[in-house]
Amino acid sequence: MVDTYQNYVDGEWRDSETGETFEVTNPADQSDVVGAFQRSSSADAAGAIEAAAAVEDEWAETPATARGTFLRETAKRMDDRAEELTETLVREEGKTRTEAAGEVQRAVDIFYYYAERAKDYAGERQEPSTTDQNLYYVREPMGVAGLIVPWNYPIAIPSWKMAPALATGNTLVVKPSQDAPNVLRKVFECLDAAAEETGVPDGVVNFVAGGGEEVGGEILDHDAVDTVSFTGSRQVGEMIYEQATDSHKRVQTELGSKNPTVVSASADVEEAADVVAAGAFGVTGQACTATERVVVHDSLYDDFVEALVERAESLDVGPGLDDPDMGPHVSESELESTLEYVEIGQDEGATLEYGGERLEGDDYDDGFFVSPTIFTDVESDMRIMQEEVFGPFVGVTSYSDFDEAVEIVNDVEFGLAAGIVTQDHSEANRFVDEADFGVVKVNEATTGLELHVPFGGMNASSSETYREQGEEGMDFFTITKTVYDN
Ligand code: NAP
Repeated sequence: MVDTYQNYVDGEWRDSETGETFEVTNPADQSDVVGAFQRSSSADAAGAIEAAAAVEDEWAETPATARGTFLRETAKRMDDRAEELTETLVREEGKTRTEAAGEVQRAVDIFYYYAERAKDYAGERQEPSTTDQNLYYVREPMGVAGLIVPWNYPIAIPSWKMAPALATGNTLVVKPSQDAPNVLRKVFECLDAAAEETGVPDGVVNFVAGGGEEVGGEILDHDAVDTVSFTGSRQVGEMIYEQATDSHKRVQTELGSKNPTVVSASADVEEAADVVAAGAFGVTGQACTATERVVVHDSLYDDFVEALVERAESLDVGPGLDDPDMGPHVSESELESTLEYVEIGQDEGATLEYGGERLEGDDYDDGFFVSPTIFTDVESDMRIMQEEVFGPFVGVTSYSDFDEAVEIVNDVEFGLAAGIVTQDHSEANRFVDEADFGVVKVNEATTGLELHVPFGGMNASSSETYREQGEEGMDFFTITKTVYDN
């Protein structure tokens, strides 16, 4: 028996009008069916948007402290169910238990953070230029937020969009990824219970599962949606940006990347291999901030490659529920895409130093497992050094002087996260100045973020309109109104 799960619209759990569902399976074992979800239509999405629009004014006028209480009550419920949410996330997306527990905790922390920020995020009073004038500005919510999210952080990413949107007085409709909707559905169970306890009106939060074109397309086109926040692939994101701006919405898109790490001549090789392995193979390389290009000083190149291969060899790959070092790909198509890039790399003349194979056999059931993959003898202009490979896949090249390293780092259309491993402080400072990336890491993996500081990419990694997370995450969902009061 497969459990069937509903959408959450206008304060109630509902079936889609299509009467159709889609199934989600465990990527570590396809015989394990997570559940069936509504294959919603654009009419279902329109219903949710209209429910959100109907209470937009009421929620905007709700005091910020009450909005904060709603977020805090949601966070408490998520925290109480953290173990269950962790297991749900592992079963549908494939992360290891440790990785999933970290993501769930992050989502809880995000709700608590914005619960506090709700009451201290306001406009400010300014000195007037004439006497008797009260000059100030306030921030007003934009209205209805349409949130379109990917599968790779299926609880943290929607949380870092929903919590600031709600804290600032917006109502919302979320479309989860069809690959991993269940953990977010459970967050909606927490939102539902918290709404009931704190008296939040029906329609403030809505969850509609279904296809990108049907549900996502309606969010992009419907006149009642004021803001669209999208995280996902470059290909879909660029199309979404056009479509949403054509229908006069405020839009932010955070997209893929091809993140580099420089290993400087002053680096400790063992430390550098640890940093790169964590960035490249953690979460099965399925992070927008994953390390995919390594640029190593030629004096350390051979030693570094040897140390990185050792790290890859020692990784225990297996089902996330067993909490190994690395879980599977989320889906067959993602696995195939990584394997296709293994072929592309070989055709381009790079050396497959380690891995690049599908892992099959008894230990791997019927899952989407791949070995960590390391290419050497790569050139910066190869496709495997230019295009995002969303898996545990890294290319290692060398440099002889620091200008060349920076040139290779910036020789890519993307610009999300760049790292350097160095003991040389002035080199680190130069790198921070010159790397064209929205996140720069010194002596730590390109992956891993703090929730209270701005996050976003440069160039093809982002629309560069607004940042997410921290206080800047709230700016996207608000507009200022300046008051001259004599
Ligand atoms: P994706 O294929 O672009 O999908 C993202 C979301 O867009 C999903 O909910 C998807 O729905 C929806 N969608 C697809 N086609 C659509 C359309 N025509 N109109 C409206 N919505 C549509 O990305 P993904 O494979 O889920 O996620 C992986 C990508 O996200 C990688 O490129 C990664 O780098 C990027 N990412 C970026 C960040 C960042 O902050 N920069 C963070 C995490 C991930 P369905 O899939 O359900 O059809």
